[in-house]
Amino acid sequence: MSQGTLYIISAPSGAGKTSLVRELIAATSHIGVSVSHTTRQMRPGETDGINYHFVDEAAFEAMIQRGEFFEHAWVFDRHYGTSRLEVEKRLAHGEDVILEIDWQGARQVRSQMPQAVSIFILPPSREALRERLSNRGQDDAATIDRRMRDAVSEMSHFDEYDYLVINDDFATAVDELKGLISAERLRMARVQAANQGLIGELLSEVEGLR
Ligand code: 5GP
Repeated sequence: MSQGTLYIISAPSGAGKTSLVRELIAATSHIGVSVSHTTRQMRPGETDGINYHFVDEAAFEAMIQRGEFFEHAWVFDRHYGTSRLEVEKRLAHGEDVILEIDWQGARQVRSQMPQAVSIFILPPSREALRERLSNRGQDDAATIDRRMRDAVSEMSHFDEYDYLVINDDFATAVDELKGLISAERLRMARVQAANQGLIGELLSEVEGLR
C-alpha cells in the first residue's frame, strides 16, 4: 500500500478554511483531518476530540518534552500542535491527511517532510475578511481589530505555499481544492506504486523489445 499524502492548509482566521475543509472531506474518500491539540478554551458548539483535543498547559508541555508533536506553535497566545503518532499512523495506512495549521507549523512540517503539499487560502477582500470576523458574533471590536492584525500577519506568508486558493465563491473554492487532491493522486510515483501489476502486464512485450 502506498503512503498517503500530507496536505498542509493554512489561512487567516475568517477565510473560511474550516468550512472548505469540511466540504472537501465530505466529498472525497480516503482523506481526513488531523485533530490538533490546543490549550485554548473550547468555544460553544465545539467538541473535545472532534474539533481539537483540549488540554491544559501542563499536559501540552509534557507532550513537547516527550517529543510527541510533529509540529507545534504559539498562535493567538495559545499552544497548538499536531500529534506525530496520529499523522504517521494514518499516512502509513494510505490515508491522505490534512493539517489545518498556521504558517509556523507549516514551516516545521515542510522541513521534516518536503513532499507535503501546502495550500494557502485567502479571502476575496479585506472587507470580506473583516465582515467574516465580525459575523462570528463571538468577539468584541478590540478582539476583531486584533484578529485583523493577526490575519494580515498570517497572510503575509502566503507565498511560502505550493498552491493558492481564493475563497470568493465557496463552491468554486471547494472544486479547486477537490481538483488539487485529484491531481496529486495522479502523480506518477503514487499511481505507479498502486498499479505495478497492471504496468508490468501492459509493458511486458515492450520490455523484451527494448
Ligand atoms: P482556532 O483557535 O481559531 O481554531 O485556530 C487558530 C489558528 O491556529 C488557526 O490559524 C489554525 O490554523 C491554527 N492551528 C490550529 N491547529 C494547529 C496546530 O496543530 N498547529 C499549528 N501550528 N497551528 C494550528
